Amino acid sequence: MFQKVAIIGGGAAAATLVSELLERRTPRPLHLDWYAGGPEAGRGIAYGTPSQRHLLNVRAASMGMFVSRPGGFLEYAQSLDPSVKGSDFLPRRLYGDFLRSRVEKALANAHTFGHDVNVVPFTADSLVPSREGITIGYGENDENHADAAVLAIGSLPPRPLPGVHDAAIASGRYITDPWPYLAAAEPDTRPLRVLVIGLGLTAVDVLLELSERWPNARFTALSRHGKLPEPHLAAVSAPSENGDELVESLRDDPNVRVWLHKLRDAVAHADDWRTVIDGMRPYTQSLWGDLPEAERARFLRHARWAWERARHRMPPQVTASVVALEKAERLVRRRGRMRSVALSPEGHLDVVRAMPGGNTVTDAFDVVVQTVGLNTDTQRTEHRLVRQLVVDHLVKPDPLGLGFAAQADGHLLDAEGKPRANLFAIGSLLRGALWESTAIPEIRKQAQSVANMLVASK
Ligand SMILES: Cc1cc2nc3c(=O)[nH]c(=O)nc-3n(C[C@H](O)[C@H](O)[C@H](O)COP(=O)(O)OP(=O)(O)OC[C@H]3O[C@@H](n4cnc5c(N)ncnc54)[C@H](O)[C@@H]3O)c2cc1C
Repeated sequence: MFQKVAIIGGGAAAATLVSELLERRTPRPLHLDWYAGGPEAGRGIAYGTPSQRHLLNVRAASMGMFVSRPGGFLEYAQSLDPSVKGSDFLPRRLYGDFLRSRVEKALANAHTFGHDVNVVPFTADSLVPSREGITIGYGENDENHADAAVLAIGSLPPRPLPGVHDAAIASGRYITDPWPYLAAAEPDTRPLRVLVIGLGLTAVDVLLELSERWPNARFTALSRHGKLPEPHLAAVSAPSENGDELVESLRDDPNVRVWLHKLRDAVAHADDWRTVIDGMRPYTQSLWGDLPEAERARFLRHARWAWERARHRMPPQVTASVVALEKAERLVRRRGRMRSVALSPEGHLDVVRAMPGGNTVTDAFDVVVQTVGLNTDTQRTEHRLVRQLVVDHLVKPDPLGLGFAAQADGHLLDAEGKPRANLFAIGSLLRGALWESTAIPEIRKQAQSVANMLVASK
């Protein structure tokens, strides 16, 4: 087993792994250094929002922190409010409270099995293989050693889209990272013109939050297809019974065009298309593993958008709020692509967009918020630790920009493509190996499996 382990990250994934490890009796006691990046570790980006309007997009019954207790979150929520049901979509803030309470309990009870934890309120900024295993650099030239390290750092900080002028960014009106902006946005009664680029669940969160704080603002949402995420049904629907059959037939021919054809066919014969998508979830990672790289690239070009829209759905209450914004004529959706964003001499942002036919249109906005999905491109990032690992050839980027090259069990690959025995990742940066690697049901499985590998006797 690895006795001294560095766990790096301040979100749900790191909190789950720390708790998984501390609640185990191991052959020898563990020493964990948890580089949490700051206080209040465990909430991360998704569950750090203070807004009651930001809801989980997974039902309460499926949001338990541990594989062994998938109903753990529901029990927690019901202990606070007995009327909560397993099918409810609860506030993400409540989920953050749950994560904090679980991890605090695990830290307080660490001594039960003789474990020892050091929560380091800094980011880990470098990892260097050493005689002891791995040397971790943090703070102002401080160093620690560990036998093994696990990166649980979520996705990478977003980068501005091509075409956005430096002056637009410097003006503070072009927002590359919506989360710190939402946390700080003050109430404003001016008739602001706001553009949101992208139309996924993050765009929806931005629209709901800013439309409340800015009651006279009008919103435009721009995306390639101009479509909102699909809605969840109010009631739980059982996954399709023919799921296994469909998956076997997909495995027979790992070709994205054939897969789309078969999926459309299955959807046409289903009572509700969601049952087909949900029936595939247990197999998505292994199906992705069957796809050759060229087919994965084809999926990203042609099917990613439709998959994300169907997979990451809006809770019914959220759908109702967005529809109400449209009805009140405070939100319009546009199809097209942003070509450029420039700061005008008058101080607003001139946005040029290409429409589906190719013509371009220029509109003026007071604020533009970029919400274009997770950034997992490890080759081009400002993230200090990831950049160091890539530049020093200690890890290999995924060839399609989906995080790190890795084994499906979380071992990162070195520059030659060999698994590193003592360096693991969990979460979004394993998308290249697993595709589905972001939500809690996947993360808790990864945390369990990496914990097993860390404490296995050698
Ligand atoms: C808006 C939003 C809503 C979501 N809603 C749901 C949902 O309802 N249900 C669901 O299952 N999933 C949801 N997800 C998916 C979500 O990503 C996961 O559930 C989970 O939050 C991922 O946790 P994480 O720890 O991997 O990443 P993060 O939450 O991103 O946490 C990673 C943390 O590590 C820190 N970090 C980065 N680098 C370092 C470093 N070098 N040293 C130390 N710390 C570092 C980061 O600052 C960050 O705080 C949502 C995601 C988003 C963005």
